[in-house]
Amino acid sequence: MRITKTFFETRLVATGEVGFVPTMGFLHEGHLALIEAARAANETVIMSLFVNPLQFDRDGDLARYPRDLERDVELAAAAGADVVFAPELEEMYPGEQFTRVNVNRLSDEMEGPNRPGHFEGVATVVAKLLAGVQPDRSYFGRKDAQQLAIVKRMAADLSFPGSIIGVPIVRESDGLALSSRNVFLSSQEREEALALNRGLMAAADAAEQGVRRTSELVGAVHGEIGTESNLSVEYVTLASQDLVEPLDELDRPAFLALAAWSGKTRLIDNVHLDEANGGFVADRGGRLETTSVLYGPGGPGGGRG
Ligand code: AMP
Repeated sequence: MRITKTFFETRLVATGEVGFVPTMGFLHEGHLALIEAARAANETVIMSLFVNPLQFDRDGDLARYPRDLERDVELAAAAGADVVFAPELEEMYPGEQFTRVNVNRLSDEMEGPNRPGHFEGVATVVAKLLAGVQPDRSYFGRKDAQQLAIVKRMAADLSFPGSIIGVPIVRESDGLALSSRNVFLSSQEREEALALNRGLMAAADAAEQGVRRTSELVGAVHGEIGTESNLSVEYVTLASQDLVEPLDELDRPAFLALAAWSGKTRLIDNVHLDEANGGFVADRGGRLETTSVLYGPGGPGGGRG
């Protein structure tokens, strides 16, 4: 396993077809699933670790974002990465930058208005990473459904040569979607947050049983969350997978996504509804059999120093 700091060095050590997994580090099994998907289809697997300042939209959030480079390198190597590209700020943003990438329309709903500038920061850094690494295939989690749609569209619109691949959400055994931010949840907040997944799964069942009206699907989510008064919901929205267009009815491949605050932690989750056999099948993601690597002795984050 190699650790690289520059784009030049990263391209130099890569051979054959390259699978690329961009992340902000503080790895968990969701990130590792992306490495595994890349491992299965490419000769060289490169994971990037870079906490991108451009995509943080709230005061203090960047400084607070968890980091653990040493452990990330160990986990990435064990999961099968050949290269960890961990650039300094200076490599990613040398000098003043005048170029920004905006994927219009797909950024207008859901996360867009709630996180001003976020998707511009994401699209810009992903464009830079794809240009610098030149992968054949890049892997993104379905956890960030709108981000995945935006990256796919950006790559198509800007004629990036590689393909963009979406990977199912990895969940804790009790259904909580893995996120680097889960370490901020107290045990009570974590317990309450489980209602988010319960709501999405109830809607997934309904969709598979033939419910098509968005109001009913969204209602199924609220039915579960309503019982947890400490969760503050920002949105629950059904949108198309390609254009992130809000839908009145489930009539094309879509995702039902939500954002909610549990205490001071903002959580997002979703269920993709894919077309199959004339109906829809829900991608419920995979569940871990044991506790996530994020949780060490002494509770959430306790093993992470
Ligand atoms: P991040 O480090 O949070 O920017 O995430 C890096 C990549 O990992 C993104 O493509 C995310 O969508 C993906 N990811 C994060 N959490 C999960 C999860 N629980 N399951 C699958 N992919 C995930």
